[in-house]
Amino acid sequence: MMQTTAIVVGAGHAGLAMSRRLTERSIDHVVLERGEVANSWRTQRWPSLRLLTPNWQTRLPGHDYAGGHPDGFMPVADVVATITRYARLVRAPVRTGVTVHTVRAAPAGFQIRAGDDLLCARAVVLATGACNLPAIPAAAGAVPASITTLTPLTYRDPGQLPDGGVLVIGASATGIQLAAEIHRSGRPVTLAAGEHVRLPRTYRGRDIFWWLQATGLLAERYDQIDDLVRARHLPSPQLTGTSRAAITDLNGLTAAGVRVVGRLGRIADGVAQFSGSLPNTCALADLKMNRFLTRADEWATASGLDDELPPPHRFAPTRVDPRTPLELNLASGEITTVLWATGFRPDYSWLDIPVRDRTGKIRHDGGVVTGAPGLYLLGLPVLRTRASTYIHGAGADSAALAGHLHSFLSSRPR
Ligand SMILES: Cc1cc2nc3c(=O)[nH]c(=O)nc-3n(C[C@H](O)[C@H](O)[C@H](O)COP(=O)(O)OP(=O)(O)OC[C@H]3O[C@@H](n4cnc5c(N)ncnc54)[C@H](O)[C@@H]3O)c2cc1C
Repeated sequence: MMQTTAIVVGAGHAGLAMSRRLTERSIDHVVLERGEVANSWRTQRWPSLRLLTPNWQTRLPGHDYAGGHPDGFMPVADVVATITRYARLVRAPVRTGVTVHTVRAAPAGFQIRAGDDLLCARAVVLATGACNLPAIPAAAGAVPASITTLTPLTYRDPGQLPDGGVLVIGASATGIQLAAEIHRSGRPVTLAAGEHVRLPRTYRGRDIFWWLQATGLLAERYDQIDDLVRARHLPSPQLTGTSRAAITDLNGLTAAGVRVVGRLGRIADGVAQFSGSLPNTCALADLKMNRFLTRADEWATASGLDDELPPPHRFAPTRVDPRTPLELNLASGEITTVLWATGFRPDYSWLDIPVRDRTGKIRHDGGVVTGAPGLYLLGLPVLRTRASTYIHGAGADSAALAGHLHSFLSSRPR
């Protein structure tokens, strides 16, 4: 049985950032990866995807973006290349093609069954990602069998879809991007929009992520957020990795010809039923966007930047057609594909340690797993700050958790 001080499961950007932190602290470790480095970006993202965070923000511990387009948005291939280069840069001890089948508590820490091996470690960092599985509502079970169903993990491009109409469920970043792409392919698209986060791509001449960072919103800590559960479940903002338009929202999709309907409630006898609360949902999203823009304006004034920046302005409210249908007969042949853009969830089915709450989520305090000393989580939304949701958030999170892990090892000498 192989023995090491720490094991990091997953060689995405988060696991690699942690590897760098452990190396800085001379903590002997290995990173176990079931595929290749950056496996999720290689195998689970659609090819036209671009990061919605700008290049200047795609930074990791000891690595800043150094290309010629700091304000651009990386395509998937560049994200793979960046993470792969980073693994080499930090000399991460990655073992690729090694799936972790179980992690169990053991007298001296943890026993890990990985590939054909048994390993032993005093600490384990779970960096296997937040988006391993699609989060699909129960209504999916009632979609007529004649309809092709896809998720963002299986979608590649519109050419993969049968001819005919497409119902996209979910209007967050993934839903609006895929609805727009499929609509451009000539297929009629209906987009079911539930609660969503509306934000402009640019405001007063700066990218929205510049504002989110400058105002301190991304730095808000998990233990200072009033409704942490809600913050951790907030949908991704309606943004696209392009600065061609100042805002990519439901108004833009409607103007292009996408039919926007309310949140999918249930499917009964082949008929999809949509909520009538679309006007309220949109009004709430507009309100919250304007609240953030007001915060941005106040910050700009307090920082003495008003003369440097274009003046404040507001975007047109979301327009909702009063004739928006509340039902769609999926058995009529009008819709041939349903695409579930309803979010993602992590997969810890291989974790054999009783650390879950009633809802199946791992109990943790900012990534320090509760009731399992030496076990850590990394790479989940709002793990330690609102930035944890994004690539650059792994920098501070890995530093904090490596510090905790180091203290844990020191407090329990072998
Ligand atoms: C559609 C989409 C768009 C996104 N856009 C952005 C964006 O614009 N900007 C941004 O900053 N973030 C974005 N993110 C969020 C975030 O950057 C990703 O979720 C990121 O991939 C998370 O990194 P990670 O290292 O935590 O996990 P991952 O990149 O998922 O890495 C986890 C690794 O663990 C491996 N693994 C899993 N289970 C096992 C096992 N049992 N044994 C061994 N290995 C295992 C996987 O193969 C994978 O390589 C996006 C996410 C999605 C899904």
